[in-house]
Amino acid sequence: MNHPLTYRGRRVVVLGLAKSGVSVAKVFHSYGANVVVNDQKEREKCPEASELDALGISVICGGHPEDLITEDTALLIKNPGIPYHVGPVRTAEALGIEIVTEVEVAYWLSPAPILGITGSNGKTTTTTWTGKLLEAAGMLPIIAGNIGRPLCEAAEEATAEQWLVAELSSFQLKGTSEFRPRVAVLLNLAETHLDYHGDMDDYVASKARLFANQTAEDTAVLNWDDPVCRRLADMLQARLLPFAAYQRLDSGVYMEPPYPPAGEEDTNSDTRQIVWKSDKGVIPIAAAAELGIPGRHNAANALAAAAAVLAAGADPKLLAEPLRNFRGVEHRLEFVGSFHGVAYYNDSKATNPTATTMSVGSLKEPIVLIAGGLDRGSDYMDLLPLFKSRVRAVVAIGQTREKISRVAELAGLTAVVTVDPLEDAETTLRHAVREAAALARPGDAVLLSPACASWDMFQSYEQRGRIFKESAHTL
Ligand code: ADP
Repeated sequence: MNHPLTYRGRRVVVLGLAKSGVSVAKVFHSYGANVVVNDQKEREKCPEASELDALGISVICGGHPEDLITEDTALLIKNPGIPYHVGPVRTAEALGIEIVTEVEVAYWLSPAPILGITGSNGKTTTTTWTGKLLEAAGMLPIIAGNIGRPLCEAAEEATAEQWLVAELSSFQLKGTSEFRPRVAVLLNLAETHLDYHGDMDDYVASKARLFANQTAEDTAVLNWDDPVCRRLADMLQARLLPFAAYQRLDSGVYMEPPYPPAGEEDTNSDTRQIVWKSDKGVIPIAAAAELGIPGRHNAANALAAAAAVLAAGADPKLLAEPLRNFRGVEHRLEFVGSFHGVAYYNDSKATNPTATTMSVGSLKEPIVLIAGGLDRGSDYMDLLPLFKSRVRAVVAIGQTREKISRVAELAGLTAVVTVDPLEDAETTLRHAVREAAALARPGDAVLLSPACASWDMFQSYEQRGRIFKESAHTL
């Protein structure tokens, strides 16, 4: 296996100065490579640069110099978000220089086995939940990757007795070469990020990198309800451990009895269990009705997390409690509290109509929905059936407020409020929360699930979620 030591005394270029770039630059510097870090942003916008300057690492900001990638460059480590068509990446390709992302280097470094989790939706939730399950099983997880903390940094700290639980994006996986997780989880595959990947084939191929180096000693956990995931089973060298919410499996982790198809009446919600079927028989893991977070999509995340930790060797008896006690991740259908008989949920991370559909469908109460934000041309008509069946009232904000209000009116809703921008974003959202509170009746839920990104008004979905929560608490 490769190792940063191989690059001692050689030129290593790090492209992109985010947290992961800083972390990987420090790693190669510590092993004696000649590290050059480059970012397109102006120096004033690169606060991380000074930390690297202090270590004597060369940092070039404000564009990509022509001579950045030289013939003697041994390795290019590319920030996952940087597309492959930018100049330095093209030059490196032309010169046959190895191009990787930071997670590849984390694999070279990690003494701990890696449990890697990817998918179009549910990565952060499942990664966090998997960490809780491993903890409960006494298996010492360290959580990192796309979830926030650079994987390299976590890999350097890890010991062989621990598990490195890595949330992985398709962008990170596209830049791997030897990366080999002991347990690899693919949650689902929907059409997203096609602006970056060009087409669905490239996106699926990038996700499939997760399994490319696995051997018969490793496990691949695949969503058997998802036809695109299922098709990947043919290419595996690893043992397959499928999971499913909607069907029984010959072996794997599934719901017993399975959920009926969406839209059909569910008569088994009280008795349903997560079970693990193997050559040792069928072992019950936990009651579906007691899972800590609502919604069938989260039940699928629970199945995936349980399958992952069982593959890692966890004792099945220890999983029911952390499956019950998990309260989810901030900004993902997060219960804020009950005020004046109305439950408030913060789902600010729902930045597309699909995510909002999942959340609206997960709540039992009649819903007063606060939605709207940056206009990225999504089709909000996708929300129409749910507006008809589950939503009592809509409060629309942001760039898409008119579009969302129109869909609500088409759905026949009479309680539709369009909030035009006030002096600033915070005031506007606070006003929207008061409007929602006025429309809600005891027993209802007020749900912030915008179906849009936040950048038309806010710095991030986190800021939007925090303001929502504060407003709810001060009603
Ligand atoms: P990611 O890290 O992949 O963006 P998160 O765990 O942060 O996923 O969840 C983001 C949103 O995606 C959630 O608020 C929910 O609406 C939706 N979601 C979560 N899990 C799933 C799933 N398994 N299938 C479909 N949608 C999901």
